[in-house]
Amino acid sequence: MSDEKSKAEKLREELSFKKESTWEQADREDVFEMAEDYKEFMEKAKTEREAYNYIVNRAEKEGFRDIDGKEEVEEGDKIIFKNRNKQVVLVKVGEDFEDVRMTLSHLDAPRLDLKQKPLYEGNDLCLADTHYYGGIKKYQWTNFPLAIHGTVIDKEGNKHTINIGEDKEEPVFLVPDLLPHLGKDQLKKELKDAIEGEELNIITGNIPFEKGEEEAVKLKVLQHLKNEYGFEEEDLMSAELEAVPAVEPRDLGFDRSMVAAYGQDDRGHSFVSLESFLDSETNKTTMACFFDKEEIGSEGNTSIQSTFLEKSVSKLLEKSGDERYHEGVYSFFDSVEALSMDVSAAVNPTYKDVHDEKNSINLGQGVAFVKFTGSGGKYRANDANAEFVGKIRKIFNEEEIPFHPVELGKVDKGGGGTVAKFLSRRGSDVVDMGFPLLSMHSPYEISSKVDIFHTFRASKAFYEG
Ligand code: MN
Ligand code: MN
Repeated sequence: MSDEKSKAEKLREELSFKKESTWEQADREDVFEMAEDYKEFMEKAKTEREAYNYIVNRAEKEGFRDIDGKEEVEEGDKIIFKNRNKQVVLVKVGEDFEDVRMTLSHLDAPRLDLKQKPLYEGNDLCLADTHYYGGIKKYQWTNFPLAIHGTVIDKEGNKHTINIGEDKEEPVFLVPDLLPHLGKDQLKKELKDAIEGEELNIITGNIPFEKGEEEAVKLKVLQHLKNEYGFEEEDLMSAELEAVPAVEPRDLGFDRSMVAAYGQDDRGHSFVSLESFLDSETNKTTMACFFDKEEIGSEGNTSIQSTFLEKSVSKLLEKSGDERYHEGVYSFFDSVEALSMDVSAAVNPTYKDVHDEKNSINLGQGVAFVKFTGSGGKYRANDANAEFVGKIRKIFNEEEIPFHPVELGKVDKGGGGTVAKFLSRRGSDVVDMGFPLLSMHSPYEISSKVDIFHTFRASKAFYEG
């Protein structure tokens, strides 16, 4: 009997696909060291523009140069393509363009955007009206300290960069919720309606310019903006001011195993993509692409749906004398294999019901491998080809990278999309993968340090494999 059991155990070991914690599979010191760099990036890159600046600076320090200054492109060249301070593509030119490896990630994250005429006065307060960006649970963004980051173009066309609320010496901003004592009617509402979009109003001041004057508090705020930053109310019309959580990345848990930070979806993967791309060594041509506007459906001229990728590839082919330049750039995309690196939902033990246990991942279990995205009948999915998934799996297995197949929730419970489908329709093979998060799209998201580490290893193995 006991022999039989051990036979079954042996067979199980051989045939089944286990899901387990991967903390034992990594050098603890390496994991924690990478987490320090990760937190530094997350602290400096609170908006898509700040992430762009970080990536461009880092790449230029590593010798990446604009293609326009080059006569021709040859093996070993490091090239940077920049678009409107929000989108960037890095290329390390290899032997040829026959087998190109690419990673994709997005630089934007959910937040509260100030409206174009945001300021108004009510009950001796000056407030700023917002329109939220991306899919948020609105109630999470009230009574949470916010910083204002962004860019204002004044009437002369000068650009002003704003960043206020991060330093402990600086003030923060806040959306005030209703006190429980008077929240009786509010508390009867459905959670999704408890805080409405038009109620996400940020407090910005309380001192009147002069007693008895009309809108005196707002006037005082306008005076401050003029004196401190040099712009006027109408200048806010040509501005992108983003209210983002005024919290710094912190270690989470007694064991410091996790990171709590804002914007890990998806700047966490921008970090992993950048670092693994720079660190990888191969004869292949490799690319790391960073996009804006994923959270609102990848629309517009800084998103993956823009023609910026085509234009970059076209220049690359032309200057390298690749004859396919004359056929158009699409045959280039046929030679591209890509990882779309984005977050997955880790199972929250308090709400496990929303997941299919078999096709889900816990924090600490490594890389979430997402063959298909979409929702309700795989609608709007990128569904990677089995052949390609098999190829990537083989690369990961050879490097002993822990991964697990993941689907975003139970069938018909929800779902979501990534940038993958927009590359795949250009002819490339692309699959989604990344580390899991708890509290996705909240002001303070949770990741596990070991998953970030394994995802870096996975991405590096992909570039080199
Ligand atoms: Mn994402
Ligand atoms: Mn997202």
